Amino acid sequence: MSLSEAGGSQEAIVVGAGPAGLAAAEALATSGRRVAIYDAAPSPARKFLMAGRGGLNLTHSEPLNELLARYGTAAEGLTGAIERFSPMDLRAWAAELGEPTFVGSSGRIFPKSFKATPLLRAWLARLAGLGVTMKTRRRLIGLADGGRTLRFRTPEGEEETHAAAVVLAFGGASWPRLGGDGAWVAALREAGVEVAPLKPANCGFRVTWSEHLRARFSGTPLKAIALSFAGATTRGEAMIDAEGIEGGAVYALSALLRDAIARDGKATLAIDLKPDLSEAALAARLIRPPGQSASTFLRKAAGLAPVAIALTHEAGPLPDQPEALAARIKRVELRLTAPAPIARAISSAGGVLWREIDERFMLRKLPGVFVAGEMIDWEAPTGGYLLQACFATGRAAGEGAAEWLARSPAK
Ligand SMILES: Cc1cc2nc3c(=O)[nH]c(=O)nc-3n(C[C@H](O)[C@H](O)[C@H](O)COP(=O)(O)OP(=O)(O)OC[C@H]3O[C@@H](n4cnc5c(N)ncnc54)[C@H](O)[C@@H]3O)c2cc1C
Repeated sequence: MSLSEAGGSQEAIVVGAGPAGLAAAEALATSGRRVAIYDAAPSPARKFLMAGRGGLNLTHSEPLNELLARYGTAAEGLTGAIERFSPMDLRAWAAELGEPTFVGSSGRIFPKSFKATPLLRAWLARLAGLGVTMKTRRRLIGLADGGRTLRFRTPEGEEETHAAAVVLAFGGASWPRLGGDGAWVAALREAGVEVAPLKPANCGFRVTWSEHLRARFSGTPLKAIALSFAGATTRGEAMIDAEGIEGGAVYALSALLRDAIARDGKATLAIDLKPDLSEAALAARLIRPPGQSASTFLRKAAGLAPVAIALTHEAGPLPDQPEALAARIKRVELRLTAPAPIARAISSAGGVLWREIDERFMLRKLPGVFVAGEMIDWEAPTGGYLLQACFATGRAAGEGAAEWLARSPAK
């Protein structure tokens, strides 16, 4: 096969330099393939670097069957890839790049440095050593010729490139300033590929606060609470913002809440502000001394922070009876009206439907074109599950593309 590097033709192109695309490029290059990565942004892996600000939760240490269950109905499609590139493999890979990992108290796995930058730097150096080239500021705007002729918008104008094998790893539509805006959905649909609409995942929700709560407590964390919805309960922290509520404990219920709002137009989230005390034990503390203000009383007797006290008032005047007051503190009901916009979500649900993809992550309708990462129709909670699936599907798609090139070299 003769492919001219300069003449608009490549052996393998990966579009998207996030963790999924970089993993695909590494697998292809390790198989001896010449790979060029194209990305819309001026520099690679911006979302991965942003994840590093939270310590870079790479994966999770729980047993593989429990980990796979976190992907819900998508577990079946992801199992092969995650078994082939498991959390153990991911840890070994990071260690080889000079970033050993550790298991945190919650079972989550982080690099010891708690940073993404050194890992990314070492990874990019390894890719460069394998001969991978990186072309930034190239936004894919169209696919032709069965998906293997790619049209890019560049600062100099439009550019067309053909490749014998293509891996698409566009990510979802959250945090568009980090590169991915979901505009690829239209290009794939035009090429006949079915894509489920992208929806916010691990997201906050809109709540219409009272003016008092909004003005006084936007940006205030709610600590050590429990949240319940539809029989599911999570514990942790949430954050009040001007338009609603977000944070780890909310994200954990966000798929259920989002789908309920889509179905019913609203959802009622229950907050337990004192999850470590039973209602009876709390009621026993709530005998109010004469002359004490409600706020001082709740702070002293129930140990509630000012933001939690404000929340107990949101549902109307506080009951006087200790039992009723304890019930209020144990169940503050918030009416959620909509998910926060996808641009502010941690990740996206929706994407390329599983039935469009074969076991090597190749698009059935576009032979030679593979997909990986968050752009496939799966979602998972935070906890390292997102990056784990991106690495594993990236690796699987890259290996699939290398196999494809090996089996039919004259493309
Ligand atoms: C604030 C934050 C913190 C997070 N923390 C964690 C965490 O600790 N652990 C965890 O597991 N997950 C975390 N995530 C999620 C995780 O970062 C993503 O799931 C992951 O980066 C997705 O990888 P990807 O390669 O599929 O896509 P992305 O990382 O989104 O990369 C896609 C790439 O494709 C490029 N691109 C998009 N469209 C085009 C186009 N048309 N043409 C050319 N290039 C294009 C983009 O510029 C981008 O570089 C976090 C996310 C956020 C926002």
